Amino acid sequence: MSKSRQIKTSIKAIVKYWEEQDLNDQTENIKDRLWDECNLNFDWSDAEICCWNCGEKLRLQRCHIIPHSLGGVDKPSNYVLLCNECHREAPNVNSSDAMWDWIRSNKLQGVEQLIGYRMAQALKLFQIRSGKSYTDTINDFIKEKNISNDAVNKLTEFIKQSGTAFFDNYCSTHWGDGFNIETRYFFLKKTCDVVKEKLTEFNIEE
Ligand SMILES: [Zn+2]
Repeated sequence: MSKSRQIKTSIKAIVKYWEEQDLNDQTENIKDRLWDECNLNFDWSDAEICCWNCGEKLRLQRCHIIPHSLGGVDKPSNYVLLCNECHREAPNVNSSDAMWDWIRSNKLQGVEQLIGYRMAQALKLFQIRSGKSYTDTINDFIKEKNISNDAVNKLTEFIKQSGTAFFDNYCSTHWGDGFNIETRYFFLKKTCDVVKEKLTEFNIEE
């Protein structure tokens, strides 16, 4: 549908428009500015290559703020740049604030900044679906099964050596899109099983 419609507005024009909006805005507190470092998941200097929601360097799409079907126009002011997955998650509503509210609400904090938007979302899914956080699941297992510190150290070593091989064996991506949230959720669940299995094995070995 909207995919086949030719968008005339360029990525550069969209970036330029929002950049000028920010520069012209003298009234707002710096912290309320759209792309102050405190408010987005990427540096504004990377605005042409990073998704404005998740902050990852992925193929970008021009995403309508107000959808074409609701009267949204083909002008820089009506677009943000999002990756394919975030584009699918973004609000499709007749409100020019909803998009920026959504993007701002997804600003990563603390440890989430290290693991990234998609892994943070996958961890939330893990908690919702299993009723317990990933960390608690592992920690409770260690307590319940009386797993020794030595076995935990052996596991840490095992993880260091296996690296990302696990990802390559089990997980794939759509072209240019990176691992999506469901793929990362599967990875977490699978990792949890492997961790439990290995901890049990290392604990018995002693
Ligand atoms: Zn994204």
